[in-house]
Amino acid sequence: MNEVEKLSEEMLRTAFELDASDIHLIPRKSDTLIEFRIHDHLYEYDLMAKPIADRLISYYKFRAGMDIGERRRPQSGSYDIVIHEHKINLRFSTLPTPYDESLVIRLLPQIWNTRLSDLSIFSESTAQLSQLLNFENGLILFSGPTGSGKTTTMYTMLHSAKRRYNCRIVTLEDPIEKLNENFIQMEINEKADLTYQTGFKAILRHDPDIIMVGEIRDLETAKIAVRAALTGHLVLSTVHATNAVLTIHRLIELGLSKFDLKETLVGVVAQRLVTLHCPRCGNVCEENCPNRLKMKRRRTAIFEILTGLPLLDALQDKKPSLGRYKRLEDYYRQISALGYLDPQRLAPGADHVPS
Ligand SMILES: [Zn+2]
Repeated sequence: MNEVEKLSEEMLRTAFELDASDIHLIPRKSDTLIEFRIHDHLYEYDLMAKPIADRLISYYKFRAGMDIGERRRPQSGSYDIVIHEHKINLRFSTLPTPYDESLVIRLLPQIWNTRLSDLSIFSESTAQLSQLLNFENGLILFSGPTGSGKTTTMYTMLHSAKRRYNCRIVTLEDPIEKLNENFIQMEINEKADLTYQTGFKAILRHDPDIIMVGEIRDLETAKIAVRAALTGHLVLSTVHATNAVLTIHRLIELGLSKFDLKETLVGVVAQRLVTLHCPRCGNVCEENCPNRLKMKRRRTAIFEILTGLPLLDALQDKKPSLGRYKRLEDYYRQISALGYLDPQRLAPGADHVPS
């Protein structure tokens, strides 16, 4: 193993052990800054001399199948590695900058051991998500900003359904985030005319029970989702909106009728991730802290789930009565009251409900 390979292996292993989602190699005037994104925050990992960083970046470009000589255009590529017996897919992307190229590596561990109950410290929420899987057909929609964990929630629900019913699950994504042999997975490929619309139609001819479609962003895809739900399938997808009620409005804006929604929609889930802070120990729990188990993952999802009567209210333009469902704001307040929010991060913009 040469020097660059050793450097790479150590950096990737450390990133994986720290649960980093991305590694940033940022060229500067006289050195290269290396940062890890861990649970949504950037941490400095190393400052590297430029010649070494250049060799490292060339090494990645070579392994990921990019053009090493091309430095003026953005490029992307990927390859798989194994760390501690876990297969990890690495996605690379470069950008030309005034001080050479910057490179970002996304780490996508190809393992799935998350259970529904692991998603949130609020068991009422994970129980509700589990109940949504009792529907044999219908439409379940998810919303939340990028990085709010929607895909993780959908995958975890699909795994739960697979274990419970051994059903045929087909996914259509852009791109496939986690390869999984339990599902039939398909990736959008515009060049091959495989779009959300054409791919979704093809899936319906493939005898699926549950279909997961990455995103509904046009009327045509929304209509196929409705048709799929009406013909006996459970459809999971995401819609760009900031809360559960606005998710419904968004579909009506796209041109879907309220009648269609009433016939098919069984649940709307809006989600955020919140970084937890132990009221006793701060960022990292000490050995004998009773919160230790809960703090293991350090981040929890909070869910605003519209289903049953509150969903019916929302579909009839009535305000869903708050006694029956909790909004994202209510969960933030509850977490704060439990002392789990970092007081230093209560500044505007940090882990708060976007208005
Ligand atoms: Zn603690």
